[in-house]
Amino acid sequence: MRLSRYFLPVLKETPAEAQIVSHRYMLRAGMIKQQAAGIYSWLPLGFKVLRKIENIVHEEQQRAGHIPLLMPTLQPADLWRESGRYDDYGEEMLRIRDRHDRDMLYGPTNEEMITDIFRSHVSSYKDLPLTLYHIQWKFRDEIRPRFGVMRGREFYMKDGYNFDLTKEDALHAYNRHLVSYLRTYERMGLQAIPMRADSGPIGGDDTHEFLVLAETGESEVFYDSAVTDLTFGDREIDYDSVEQCQGVLEEFTSKYARTDETHDEALFNQIPEERRRVARGIEVGQIFYFGTKYSEAMGAEVQGPDGKKVPVHMGSHGIGVSRLLGAIIEASHDDKGIIWPEGVTPFHVGIVNLRQGDEATDAACEQLYKALTAAGLEPLYDDTNERAGGKFATMDLIGLPWRITVGPRGLKNGVVELTSRRTGESEEMSLEAAIARVQEIYAPHMG
Ligand code: ATP
Ligand code: MG
Repeated sequence: MRLSRYFLPVLKETPAEAQIVSHRYMLRAGMIKQQAAGIYSWLPLGFKVLRKIENIVHEEQQRAGHIPLLMPTLQPADLWRESGRYDDYGEEMLRIRDRHDRDMLYGPTNEEMITDIFRSHVSSYKDLPLTLYHIQWKFRDEIRPRFGVMRGREFYMKDGYNFDLTKEDALHAYNRHLVSYLRTYERMGLQAIPMRADSGPIGGDDTHEFLVLAETGESEVFYDSAVTDLTFGDREIDYDSVEQCQGVLEEFTSKYARTDETHDEALFNQIPEERRRVARGIEVGQIFYFGTKYSEAMGAEVQGPDGKKVPVHMGSHGIGVSRLLGAIIEASHDDKGIIWPEGVTPFHVGIVNLRQGDEATDAACEQLYKALTAAGLEPLYDDTNERAGGKFATMDLIGLPWRITVGPRGLKNGVVELTSRRTGESEEMSLEAAIARVQEIYAPHMG
């Protein structure tokens, strides 16, 4: 993309309404625009990152064997009357009446609708195990929407639902989700720690929340610092293997890590003092096993091997796709702007032309732009007439992890400059070498 033809409405001033750094930078970098409290337009740069995050979530869900579908945002109230949640859900549910006086609602989650789909089409244990998921807009009429996309009213969520014959099978689905979530967050450059949590209005027994540590997080968390040493890395895992998934769950949940709702002071005090941590975190996902709560209420049964009908065991599993943009920025920024991890960056590399209009410099930039594009990378070429300082400030603010600076002086010596946004370190090299280096850096992220 050439910046002169892009739509990047960068703000010079810091918007007064933004209280936390991710919200400030998302507004300043022209990623989002608020349209009403907790409701945002996603401007091109923000939309690009949202899509990158969404793609990673899709890839990892499908790697785990989960099947994508798409349910609508609007739902009939009658489904929720069957489960009893139409009355229970309260003020957070946005209720709508259509022209025929039918009660509708903008879905805050989809347990009821997915259970309805299941009961309409599945009747035998032979069709199990089954996990269906979608990524769709949700609406919750939060009493205090704040912090930009972190706590919106309209927000984008991946929600998946497993259907299994037995509790044992459903717990495998739970473990499988935990493993796939670990991989998902790591691909986004995030450490998200699974913490024992409280099940809240969805109801159920087993649940973990995934938290990204950040001072601005809304949850208070208590953990053994040893959990932060764990990484999933690039290990291969067979998602059908009960032992392997169980093993990963045990490894990642054996150390104390809890939210304030489930915190146990006596247990916490058994951790050696130097490893006890009280901190704040951003909830970026949650997994639940809730058994037959919805399948019993809504008649989602299958015929078992013995011919008897039994309600299926279910769980639901959510990832806060739009909240993740805020969480990533909270975890990765400096005083100049965002620092995108390579896995989610909107453009792979910025090209800064230091002397727009200089024949040799323009030609070198064009050559670079074309070669990077041909290599399957997305460069953002600042081909505007802005002075160098302004170009650098914009690149730093929007946070592309790599920048190639091209100017007449370097070109005389046959070099351009490759700069890391994270470390600020620059290296001079030939144009060809810069292209090769950028390709090498992104090779692990190119699907
Ligand atoms: P919270 O406790 O933050 O209100 P929740 O536990 O009610 O969230 P879930 O039902 O578990 O949310 O939804 C799954 C994920 O969706 C959450 O882990 C979170 O990342 C995201 N999410 C929930 N509410 C919002 C919101 N208002 N804005 C943005 N993301 C949200
Ligand atoms: Mg939750």
